[in-house]
Amino acid sequence: MIRNRPRIVVVGAGFAGHQAAKTLSRQLRDNAEIVLLNPTDYFLYLPLLPQVAAGILEPRRVTVSLPGTLPRVRLVLGEADRVDLAARRVHYTGPEDDKGELEYDRLVLAVGSVNKLLPVPGVAEHAHGFRGLPEALYLRDHVTRQIELAAATGDPDERAARCTFVVVGAGYTGTEVAAQGQMFTDALVRKQRAWRHAGHKPRWLLLDIAPRVLPELDRRLSRTADTVLRGRGVDVRTGTSVKEATHEGVLLDDGEFVDTRTVVWCVGVRPDPLVSEVGLPVERGRLLVEPTLNVPGHPEVFACGDAAAVPDLTRPGEFTPMTAQHAARQGKLAGRNVAASLGYGEQQRYKHNDLGFVVDLGGVKAAANPLGVPLSGPVAGAVTRGYHLAAMPGNRIRVAADWLLDAVLPRQAVQLGLVRSWSVPLDTASPELARVPGGRGRAEQSEPGG
Ligand SMILES: Cc1cc2nc3c(=O)[nH]c(=O)nc-3n(C[C@H](O)[C@H](O)[C@H](O)COP(=O)(O)OP(=O)(O)OC[C@H]3O[C@@H](n4cnc5c(N)ncnc54)[C@H](O)[C@@H]3O)c2cc1C
Repeated sequence: MIRNRPRIVVVGAGFAGHQAAKTLSRQLRDNAEIVLLNPTDYFLYLPLLPQVAAGILEPRRVTVSLPGTLPRVRLVLGEADRVDLAARRVHYTGPEDDKGELEYDRLVLAVGSVNKLLPVPGVAEHAHGFRGLPEALYLRDHVTRQIELAAATGDPDERAARCTFVVVGAGYTGTEVAAQGQMFTDALVRKQRAWRHAGHKPRWLLLDIAPRVLPELDRRLSRTADTVLRGRGVDVRTGTSVKEATHEGVLLDDGEFVDTRTVVWCVGVRPDPLVSEVGLPVERGRLLVEPTLNVPGHPEVFACGDAAAVPDLTRPGEFTPMTAQHAARQGKLAGRNVAASLGYGEQQRYKHNDLGFVVDLGGVKAAANPLGVPLSGPVAGAVTRGYHLAAMPGNRIRVAADWLLDAVLPRQAVQLGLVRSWSVPLDTASPELARVPGGRGRAEQSEPGG
């Protein structure tokens, strides 16, 4: 088919893809057809996911409508399962298992990352990840249910196990999940008279093989987070990992067995498996690109965000870390450079100095270092919430309203039970979608004999 204007296909509408599509539609207007392929009709603001799991934010608050924010972009619902570089075509599966393909003149790959698995026995079966909205909803319900079941049982061992929550990985995701989780379960328990009289306090363990929490961030943020977590009663175990997970609990590498019904797997992420299937050079699963975000040897293909290994020009020899801050800025530049490749503007190289990090520790507490200035306590809390409001591409009033309600009202202690354990497996290439009966996820499709 002959097109009268070039077609740009952006695969993935996260921090990078959303920014790329937005920049392209602003810069090219009607001079190109911009198509955005994504499994959901929303952009997910991942940094606030722990607040969804803790019952502070309703799930729709962290989603931002793609058609609502990108009116000149054509949204195609689906997941890319193959990229044919020679034919310049993306093959995808739609939400009702329908197959489709999209021809492109320019391609932007921004498919992000998925839960990282480690070869630890039992983990794939008994642990849950924390990379998508279904997993956050599952965790909220599951935690609520454990407290309710603990209140109902007369068996003290079962009660203790149900009220023990293990988070593996003390990066920003695990640290926030544990910090928010402890406050959430304390609030749930306050509502359970019977359970309160039994005299148990829910117990959260945060494990990491590294010698400190937030190992990838500034030491001062680690110290702040460590102090807040321990002060709140979280059992922080650094230099510790999981040897095995079972239905009854987890065996730690120091030989201790912890009875629990909850293991949250936050050991990190790996690039979306689609990237390695494209057949281009990768660096630890991330697609190698030039500083212009262009894939070497393929002037029509660009990649950005967690899925791309982008040289860090501020730290020669390294690649930019997998953070929202980099992904959003790379997405914007990818949009500009794609436009430049079509004759609109000049190509530029990606260079960005870290502006600091914010870690929400629940309540009014946070650890933050905006522009390198270390902050803690309520000041950090205010900066963190202000940062999130500014960074979200929409829904700001709704998010702020939920925060206000949470400050003045008790949290709703109900579990809807809509997301079941089997529908959010740890080993999935599609953490953004809950598995449905009869449906086949991308992970299953690629498994031999699966
Ligand atoms: C719980 C949590 C908290 C975090 N907190 C912070 C934080 O505070 N600060 C920070 O800087 N970073 C944070 N991060 C990391 C940050 O969210 C990521 O670095 C960022 O989302 C990467 O952006 P991206 O666009 O590359 O990928 P994503 O935002 O993950 O977007 C990828 C998109 O691609 C889509 N997709 C995937 N596969 C396909 C396919 N085959 N076909 C079509 N579409 C596909 C996905 O559905 C998604 O929409 C956090 C991450 C998590 C999980």
